[in-house]
Amino acid sequence: MAVARVALDIPARALADAFDYDIPPNLESEARVGCAVLVEFGHRKAVGHVVDVVASSDVPGRKPLCAVLSPPRFDEVSARLAAWIAGEYVAPLADAVRLFLPSGSVPEVAKTDDGWQLVRPRVRQATERVVEICGDAGFVPAVSATRQRAVLDALAAGPLTTGELNALLGPVSSVVTRLSEAGAVRVRERQRSRGPAPVSRPAPRHEELSVGQSGALDTIDAAQPGSWVVVKGVTGSGKTEVYLRAIEKVRAAGRGAIVLVPEISLTPQTVGRFRSRFGDEIAVLHSRLSAGERFDEFERVARGEARVVVGARSALFAPVTDLGIVVIDEEHETSYKQGSSPRYHAREVARRLVELRSAVLVTGSATPSMESLHAAETGRCALCELPERVGGGALPEIDVVDLGAEFATGNRSMFSRRLVEELIGVQERGEKAILLMNRRGYASFLLCRECGHVPGCDRCSTSLTFHETGPVLMCHHCAARVAVPPVCPKCESPYLRRFGAGTQRVAEEVALVVPELPVVRMDADTTSNKGGHERRLAEFESHSSAVLVGTQMLAKGLDYPSVTLVGVVTADTTLHLPDVRAGERTFQMLEQVAGRAGRGPQGGRVIIQTYWPEHAAIRAVVTRDPEVFYAQDRGERRDLGYPPFGRIANITLTARVRSRAKEHADVIARTIAEHAPEQVRVLGPSPAPLARIKDRYRWHVLVKASEGHPLSELVRAALAAVPSASDVSVAPDIDPLDLM
Ligand code: ADP
Ligand code: ZN
Ligand code: ZN
Repeated sequence: MAVARVALDIPARALADAFDYDIPPNLESEARVGCAVLVEFGHRKAVGHVVDVVASSDVPGRKPLCAVLSPPRFDEVSARLAAWIAGEYVAPLADAVRLFLPSGSVPEVAKTDDGWQLVRPRVRQATERVVEICGDAGFVPAVSATRQRAVLDALAAGPLTTGELNALLGPVSSVVTRLSEAGAVRVRERQRSRGPAPVSRPAPRHEELSVGQSGALDTIDAAQPGSWVVVKGVTGSGKTEVYLRAIEKVRAAGRGAIVLVPEISLTPQTVGRFRSRFGDEIAVLHSRLSAGERFDEFERVARGEARVVVGARSALFAPVTDLGIVVIDEEHETSYKQGSSPRYHAREVARRLVELRSAVLVTGSATPSMESLHAAETGRCALCELPERVGGGALPEIDVVDLGAEFATGNRSMFSRRLVEELIGVQERGEKAILLMNRRGYASFLLCRECGHVPGCDRCSTSLTFHETGPVLMCHHCAARVAVPPVCPKCESPYLRRFGAGTQRVAEEVALVVPELPVVRMDADTTSNKGGHERRLAEFESHSSAVLVGTQMLAKGLDYPSVTLVGVVTADTTLHLPDVRAGERTFQMLEQVAGRAGRGPQGGRVIIQTYWPEHAAIRAVVTRDPEVFYAQDRGERRDLGYPPFGRIANITLTARVRSRAKEHADVIARTIAEHAPEQVRVLGPSPAPLARIKDRYRWHVLVKASEGHPLSELVRAALAAVPSASDVSVAPDIDPLDLM
């Protein structure tokens, strides 16, 4: 009798492998890899997913499958990729398998008064809402004119479903409601079609490729199946055009494509460029899609109707037929790392995916990650450079203001005189400005306002974090604790300040220095409710002259032609995060600002305020020479054995009771140390930089190993050896992007 290997979602056995079940003769033809099945586990029923079918098994006392609940939703190759993800990122196999299943498609077993009951996934609705233009109502008040125009433009080519509109433009239901009240559009219900309405595909207008672009395209063309090509080129150097051409070639050969872009870049313009080349062959996978819409898109891809999938991180798992190429744009973006289990990095999964499917991986960025550069240096991928913008294009002027020098001359404000002058200029000329307050997380640090010194750890290359309790300074790498010094350890100034100011203070400061200039604030606080983001931007657009104050989320939206000034209030806030990648984050953010700001006819200027003007991340941006930063960062990481020159695992333990998190962390640290060979170091446990979130105390254990070390196996073995505690949750993060 054949045996099905089934991934089961059983929290107490989280890191267990698949479980074996006999396939009874009546299910022989149905039970295949990718099917959801119903099984018995202990005395209950459970839903699982078949990840393999084998001829026999030596597991004793096997039970038969009870039922097959769904047709196959993924194939053998996906099952192998899921197993790799679970192994590499020390995650439950069921979590990895679920990546391949659109949410809402998985049946569940629910407990009821009289036993267990199977909850089938929601059926998709038979009708959908379609929006179409029906008249010209002119300008409708009370919604942003820009949003109205965007909706009407999108509908100009024909009706779209509300789902399609949302996927293209973000939440627009309020705009659609107003437009329909005014008689400009009509919303009606219609029967769901099998696929989307056919979109006419304009013949591509092909520009002549630049030398760099042709070179990159040739390299991709010549790439062996399973290999990886890195395209390094500033914004506007024509990378997207290279992706489009490479995908056209793949399509001409009858194969499919996946394109990943950061969620925040999944704009109508981006999608439009792909749609204009590939028409209704594209499927867009977006977090704004409802579960039903997402399911439908997966189905279209599985049926082979859509062969080019454009989407955020999770689009990697779409069932594209005969995959030929995977493109990851803005490869350095942190959003490619998943924050919950399995904590995978899309780049690493994509590398494995193209190997398994004999496809080619292309990653592109203006500021490639050190992992990509290191891979290129060691010959594990090809590197193509696009050093220039197509069609030239003016770059903004960049000026650095030394805040330490500013303070020395008596200026106690958070704005330099220079920045104030520029803001006044913006107001007088009726222009617009953006002020970035680059703040992440809640960690704060101590900074000397006179010399810019930030107390750091003697042993690790990170700054010490200020903790209210104590108060005390703490290193989150080695758990060292240091008393808060009364004066600056370097220059003995008494002006030591806790740093970590928010956007609110920046907004208040603007109101103080240029009261005539309207201020719009945009950060996690002001945009947390639905549509908050678009309302803030609409407000900023509605003014003829204004300042937009926000966190680094604004760095991506710098394509406003009317913005002539971008001020980075303090570049230092990320430089001092307890994070080995602090410099990298700052560099990437500043590069983005420097590459994008001031694109309009009036040109523009970037002002970077910092206490650390000689930091390589800042000098690299000002001198427009990324190697200034990379050389320094490479050296530091190599010396300290940080990724990609070494490996790190960060295991976070959380519990409602502080001592429980700590006790469990102690046991885990000890167990790993017992399992670990000589070359592996276990650091901690120590309180996590975010020591408490939502009433849960957080502790962490860091494990450092040499490059290429099978760190995941070590962590998995150790975690499996520690009995789980129901009141403590354990979250292993392999090769983490931050240590928060
Ligand atoms: P990137 O993805 O690197 O930011 P894009 O591919 O978006 O760059 O190119 C920037 C702009 O230049 C786009 O408007 C694009 O249509 C145009 N473009 C790209 N390649 C060429 C080319 N070879 N000749 C002329 N224009 C080009
Ligand atoms: Zn330390
Ligand atoms: Zn000092």
